Amino acid sequence: MRTPMIAGNWKMNTTVDEALALVREMHSGIHAAPHVDKVVCPAGICLSDLEAGLEAIANVDKVICPPFVSLASVKEIIKGSSIRLGAQNMYYEEKGAYTGEISPLMLASLCEFVILGHSERRQYFNETSEIVNKKIKAALAVGLKPILCVGERLEDNEAGRTEEVVAEQLSRSLAGIGSLEGLTVAYEPVWAIGTGRAATAKQANETIGFIRHSLRRLYTGVVAEGVRILYGGSVTADNAAELMKQPEIDGALVGGASLKADQFISITKQASEIKGSG
Ligand code: PEP
Repeated sequence: MRTPMIAGNWKMNTTVDEALALVREMHSGIHAAPHVDKVVCPAGICLSDLEAGLEAIANVDKVICPPFVSLASVKEIIKGSSIRLGAQNMYYEEKGAYTGEISPLMLASLCEFVILGHSERRQYFNETSEIVNKKIKAALAVGLKPILCVGERLEDNEAGRTEEVVAEQLSRSLAGIGSLEGLTVAYEPVWAIGTGRAATAKQANETIGFIRHSLRRLYTGVVAEGVRILYGGSVTADNAAELMKQPEIDGALVGGASLKADQFISITKQASEIKGSG
């Protein structure tokens, strides 16, 4: 019932040229799969060469989230393909004297998704769940689909407070939001992000089950069943299968491994094979 999603958070990596090279490689898989005949497509993605890249993988929503400055160029490159585009953040005001910020309206014409409440934003830019709440409302108002990140810090995890922290982040981030249409949640334990120490498949499955249970209490069973919930935190081609086999996990938000075309393609393929048919 829920289409799996693999989303790549490129964070503050890649120049515009590097972003274009990476998305071309992901799309066609040419470099990731050297056995595939190379087709020269100087103007952009070669839609006839679909053998091995993301374009060949069905039944999974494939989302890439490059830096703001590359969104417009990447959008041109993926036009007509099945790769979908997201931003990594946004401000909640529509426009005005907010030097350096990017508004929901600006993004709405460029991309479909927006990551909100990522733990790096909470940690380095003092984003609270109240700010995230305003951002989600503003995103939904212009038709952007938020990917809301929640997750506990190591000390909370070790103190057995995971469920308490995640439940609070969820209820505060979603306060006053009537419909969850278009919303995806990503469970990202802070201690697993960029550390190479992923949650075990069992841990991730249990906490995601708890998140769905919390959504059921905040909304209704039907609403909760419709929300896609991803796992994020050191997902690689090596641990993806185990995670994707878990019934509560609807896909992954991938950071470091999304900067390597072969890794991202492999993670997406595994998600498609394990989850995509149902
Ligand atoms: C992320 O940034 O959302 C993330 C999960 O990063 P990584 O995969 O590198 O842990």
